[in-house]
Amino acid sequence: MSRVSARIANIAESATLAVDAKAKALKAAGRPVIGFGAGEPDFPTPDYIVEAAVAACRDPRFHKYTPAGGLPELREAIARQVGRPAGQVVVTNGGKQAVYQAFAALLDPGDEVLVPAPYWTTYPEAIKLAGGVPVPVLTDESTGYLAGVDQLAAALTPRTKVLLICSPSNPTGAVYPREQLAEIGRWALENDLMVVTDEIYEHLVYGDAEFHSLPVVVPELADRTIVLSGVSKTFAMTGWRVGWMYGPDDLIKGALNLQSHATSNVSNVAQAAALAAVTGDLSAVAEMRRAFDRRRRTMVRMLNEIPGVVCPEPQGAFYVYPSVAGLLGRELRGRRPASSMELASLILDEAEVALVPGEAFGTPGYFRLSYALGDDDLVEGVTRIAKLAHEAA
Ligand code: PMP
Repeated sequence: MSRVSARIANIAESATLAVDAKAKALKAAGRPVIGFGAGEPDFPTPDYIVEAAVAACRDPRFHKYTPAGGLPELREAIARQVGRPAGQVVVTNGGKQAVYQAFAALLDPGDEVLVPAPYWTTYPEAIKLAGGVPVPVLTDESTGYLAGVDQLAAALTPRTKVLLICSPSNPTGAVYPREQLAEIGRWALENDLMVVTDEIYEHLVYGDAEFHSLPVVVPELADRTIVLSGVSKTFAMTGWRVGWMYGPDDLIKGALNLQSHATSNVSNVAQAAALAAVTGDLSAVAEMRRAFDRRRRTMVRMLNEIPGVVCPEPQGAFYVYPSVAGLLGRELRGRRPASSMELASLILDEAEVALVPGEAFGTPGYFRLSYALGDDDLVEGVTRIAKLAHEAA
């Protein structure tokens, strides 16, 4: 009998966290590594948010257990913003717990989830952990990494229960236009599907792109949609671990029951910080967004100047997702990387630049690079990749 359960043995390590950990370890050992791996803003959390947490630390009311679903003020603040009753919101330990709980609440063994690929690495693992079957729906740069109804329809089976949408997308930065979202939403409704929509990058959209929430665009979907979000990306609060989910009463009650046994309430101090974040003005966010936008444009321009690299311009989040197919199979520093995984490993060894290969997102032949790092590091990192790529024979 195997010591590790089949359920857990079936779960892969988070590739993005693994790349980030390797880069951080090399850095700690004194290597000048530049990391494009982490999905994390380089900015510190804005001061007014930190101050709210400090005040909460000193207030004995925050020293005790609080309701598992979240501090009432925070649930109400989120509920007000999205026009739902507070009882339909659960505050979670980061968006990640919300992802897991959404699928645990929705899936029975064998239920299928349509997952547009490239997808964020956590989705298929969370779906499997909940007993479900992730069904990737492959997209590429020719459609700006957006899935169309025809593609989704081709993957539909009698076991399909859930459609997952992540917009703005990790890893591609793609943002679904309103009309395309509406079309997908109506199709989901016609096919009696449940929906999970991840809106954690809602505030990070650039240029003419606009964020739209699926259950707002197609209101009839509100009763069959779980929305996921959190403060990590918008407010540079990745370490605080506050996210949330909202949706119809039955599913939210199920998720809350699970959370009440798994983790109880999220740290009160972090929730107090999140309350300041979601009720404060968004000027600090606007400033970070301007920096991301500048870096985005630099990154896209520099990557497209590298022969063998094709980088569509993303419209949201803080990632670019270039194709590196043109660099594969070529001789480079005595090696001949045949896959994006092998090329990423060579770039880390030879140029001391960390990036995440497309294998982690269900589409080999691509890299994900985060541009949530300082402008100078960004330019230096891409310059190193370019120099190395020019040696490819
Ligand atoms: N959803 C998406 C699409 C993400 O990229 C992330 C973070 N990488 C999360 C959810 C979860 O973030 P957190 O747990 O920090 O809130």
